[in-house]
Amino acid sequence: MSISFKQLARPGVRHLAPYQPGKPIEELRRELGLERIIKLASNENPLGASPAVNEALQHLWKDIARYPDGSGFALKQALSTMLNVPTDCITLGNGSNDVLEMLARGYINEGDEVIFSQHAFAVYPIVTQAVDGKAVVVPAVHFAHDLVAMANAVTPRTKMMFIANPNNPTGTYASVQALTALLEQVPAHVIVVLDEAYFEYVTAEDYPDGLALLPRFPNLVVSRTFSKIYGLASLRVGYAIANPEITDILNRVRQPFNVNTYALVAAEAALGDQEFVRKSCAVNQEGLAMMQQGLHKLGIQTIPSVCNFVTFQHPRAEQLNQMLLSKGMIIRGVANYDIPNGLRVSIGLPQENRLFLRALEDCLEHV
Ligand SMILES: *Cc1c(COP(=O)(O)O)cnc(C)c1O
Repeated sequence: MSISFKQLARPGVRHLAPYQPGKPIEELRRELGLERIIKLASNENPLGASPAVNEALQHLWKDIARYPDGSGFALKQALSTMLNVPTDCITLGNGSNDVLEMLARGYINEGDEVIFSQHAFAVYPIVTQAVDGKAVVVPAVHFAHDLVAMANAVTPRTKMMFIANPNNPTGTYASVQALTALLEQVPAHVIVVLDEAYFEYVTAEDYPDGLALLPRFPNLVVSRTFSKIYGLASLRVGYAIANPEITDILNRVRQPFNVNTYALVAAEAALGDQEFVRKSCAVNQEGLAMMQQGLHKLGIQTIPSVCNFVTFQHPRAEQLNQMLLSKGMIIRGVANYDIPNGLRVSIGLPQENRLFLRALEDCLEHV
């Protein structure tokens, strides 16, 4: 072939590293033929989803030939009631990644600067570079976002800022004081995207609720998801809350039927079962403590996490990861997040956490 189709791609895309997902359970089963596989690699809810979701999906197949409700009316109504925000402030996405991409496509011009932190969620550089925006990566402090430095990184060319609160894969968070100070400093035309994918898991007292800051800061956009605590990762549904003008722009670039019927119905049912959310949070709190203590007992330091995962470093991380895989334990290497020798483990059920810690102890004796 004489034409380089790589060279024909937009420059930002040519230099893009694709997102690396956690290894699917079936893939490892095909490779190793193992019976028991434990996946603690994608921050999924180990309890699954609310039984109300199963109930709600039962008869949907009858309508499978119909397009979904492109406006997502019922789910937006439910979110509006639950979050106390008007429906014209809500954008539904095919996962919250979809709304992050809509924000980039709607607002970032070629060469516009987009600020995010070192170690931040991998989707920010992807959506930025895909539209030829210029990523401005601000060094982290002890793996956490440095909100003072991020605010100071704003220039006349800055269009957008992404803040993951808390961040994946570090599990660190910004306090309400730090976030408010940043929003007070950042010029009103810079769009600040606050990614709250793990919002429902965080119990720290000084953790901010982005929605409470929206009335004061019209340049703020809050994104949340049904993939994490609600346990609907496979269905792909998330949302953004923003002022109606931003919401209108997102609606212009949104694909007409971006959220499918199963996802819409499941999310509405999941939202209705807040008892399941409370239980999931409680199970995670216990599991998180158990995982952190277990790792510390093995002599491993962890990055302090408020999420449903823990990240740590080990000089033989890659070897450990491979050994764990051979034992049917899937976790995630996070060296690609500029965390050398980093490994991230999601919090599972108590038994899964125990089995992981036992497997890790065993591996540590052999590396
Ligand atoms: C998991 C995650 C999301 C959610 O992605 P979905 O597309 O909603 O599944 C968003 N942001 C961060 C930081 C995450 O870790």
